Formats: sequence, structure tokens, C-alpha cells
Amino acid sequence: MSSPIAAIDTDVLLTVNLIRTGRAITRQQLARMTGMSRNTISSLINTAIDAGLIAPDGSAPSTGGRAPATWRFRQEAGLVLAVGVHTSTLRLAVTDLAGQPVERRTLDWPITRGPEATLTRAAEELQDMTRRHEPPVWAAGVSLPGPINQETGRPSSPPIMPGWDDFDVVGTLEPALGVPVATGNDVNIMLLGYASTLPDQGRRESANILYLQVGTGIGVGIMSNGHLHLGAAGAAGDIGHVQVSGTDSVICRCGRTGCLEAVAGGWALLRDAHRAAVEGLSPHLKECLDRRGELTVEDIVTGVNAGDTECVTLMVRSATAVGDALAMVVSFFNPGRVVLAGPMPQGCPMFLDVIRRIVYERALSLATTDLEILPADSGLDDELRGCALLAVNSVFTAATA
Ligand SMILES: [Zn+2]
Repeated sequence: MSSPIAAIDTDVLLTVNLIRTGRAITRQQLARMTGMSRNTISSLINTAIDAGLIAPDGSAPSTGGRAPATWRFRQEAGLVLAVGVHTSTLRLAVTDLAGQPVERRTLDWPITRGPEATLTRAAEELQDMTRRHEPPVWAAGVSLPGPINQETGRPSSPPIMPGWDDFDVVGTLEPALGVPVATGNDVNIMLLGYASTLPDQGRRESANILYLQVGTGIGVGIMSNGHLHLGAAGAAGDIGHVQVSGTDSVICRCGRTGCLEAVAGGWALLRDAHRAAVEGLSPHLKECLDRRGELTVEDIVTGVNAGDTECVTLMVRSATAVGDALAMVVSFFNPGRVVLAGPMPQGCPMFLDVIRRIVYERALSLATTDLEILPADSGLDDELRGCALLAVNSVFTAATA
């Protein structure tokens, strides 16, 4: 499966990719990065302009003499299809080549329906969505809530995805969509999307970030000096199933006992929130359950913010377990920034306060002196941007290999 740019000359694409990623935006910088002459660069730039891939973008500050012209990647030159597979929803979007959404749809769709039904439905919706838009579709990016084998691009024993183990997601979607498809683990994709919003190139290139998602499950994306760290097989950062001390009797979805997410994950909170509602321990949760017949993590968040004691207890238990695990990871990795995504960290300032206190108390002071611990603005927007970037990065990698 090839993209619309596969037929374009490799040197042109290398030049365009340097401009796209912000690593070089003037003739001088491009010549320095590629080792090519300025005349060659000028000719590559003209070809890229004719192909609609780049456009003039003003000038850089002068360093004596005439200010050099700068170029920008035309992110409006094509479209990307983004698929976010979640526990109970399927999030679909058509975006530009930088992940800015053009159209989005969210379906109530349990992941337990399995890969074939899920991917067939995703392809049908995306085909319908792209019909109304002009630019060509370049590629698709798929975010999956489980470990992805780096060698095969397939889910590897995902604990919450029955039927998805080793399923050929790429081989199923590519013929249906007619474009190259790239897959990734959700939190790694969210981190990729988040990092692209950092304000300047220098900070993106030197970023040491942990992106911790506390959703239904718990996972960490790791960025070291601007590069995603996936590990030897792709399992790096999958901390949801590390053992938490003193919780040996709690059974996890993975079949083991005492896992972090069995104590602190969204599904574990809902299990205990349900019990608190039924046993009458929390008037707030009982009222939510009576009204809607089910509970969400957002109900616990509103309970915490309204001062419901049982909700506060659940939140503190989750934050303490996550904080303990994070303190260890911070000492080990020494990030400059930790970003927390999910309804609890994004909606509940107390959750972040508990985590900050534990991390600053436990981790080495050298590791925490300049450490920022921040909530994500929107984990879902980060995922969308990340899907598009993963897809477009793969297209450039394939076309310039
Ligand atoms: Zn587990």
C-alpha cells in the first residue's frame, strides 16, 4: 500500500521532511543538514513547491545581511484518518497532515465486539467522512489500548481486548481504506501528539517527558531527548500491571493479583464506587447510580469536588498508588515533565496534589528540583494529533528509506 507521495523523488521528500519537522526551514539550514549545495537545495525546494508540499513562510531573523527566506510544510496538502479504539467508545477523525481535526465522530462501541467488527465499522465511517473532503488521504493512524509488538505492529496479549491478540490490524485496514496504516499503543501516541504542541523546536528536541494515562487502565509513554522510547519489544512504560505492595488479594483483569491498575485504574475505582453506592456509603454515588443505572469515573470526580467522603477516599487511594509507582519511575528516568491524562488527573486538582506530594517526598531531590507535574489539556486531542503524526511519520520513513 503506497501513499500519494511515494512517487516523489527521495531527496525532495527528505528536504520536505526536514521542513515539516522544523529541523531546517531555511536554504542555509537545509544545505547544512543534508550536505547538499545551496543550488541543489533551491531546485529541490522548487520541486516541492510545484508538488504542493511546501510554501514560503516569511523570513528568519537576519544574522547580518539579507534575512533568509523560510519555508513551511503545507499541512493542508492532504488528510489523515485517525482511529482511537477505547474500552467503550470508538473515536474517529479526519485530520490535516499535522493532526488538526477536519471532522470527528465518536461511537458508543465496546472493544469486546472484537477486531473484525470494530475495524469494519471504523473503515465504513471513515470512508463516509472522507467523501465530503477535497485533499487526498495520505495514511491512517490507529491508537490501541494495549501493548503493540514493534516487529509486527500487532497487539500483544492485551488484557482488556478479547480477540485482538496478534490480530493483523494493518493487514485488515489497509485494503479497506486504500492507504498505508500505522498502529501504536495509545499512551505512546498521546505523548507523540502532546510533544508536537511544545512551543519551540529546541524544547521538542531535548524533551524528557513521561505521559501517564490514568484511564480505565494505567500506562506511561516515555520520551527521551525528543524520541519516543518503546523498548526492545514495545512494552516500555506498561506499568499498569506492576505489583503494589499490600494488595495481594485484589484480582486484576490480567489474571494476576495486586496490580497497580487493580487498585488505582478506572475500572477498579468503578468496582468500588458501585459497592459504595449499593451499600449506601456514598449518597452522591447512590444518587448517580439511581439516576442513570451506571457509574462513571466522572461521577467520582464530581463527588470529590463536592466533598463526598467516600469519593475522596477512592481518589486518594488511587492517587497514592499511582504516586508511589511514579516516584520510583521519576527517580529512575529523571524526566523534566510529567503529564497526567485521564478524567481523574484532568478533573480533580486534589489527585494531582497527592501525587506531587508523594513524588517530591520520595524521589531524589536532583530528580525533582526542576520537575513539572501537570495535567494534560485534553488526552483525546493529544491522541488525535498523535495518530496523524504517527501515520505521516511512517509515510515519510517509507518513502525516504
Ligand atoms: Zn494486572
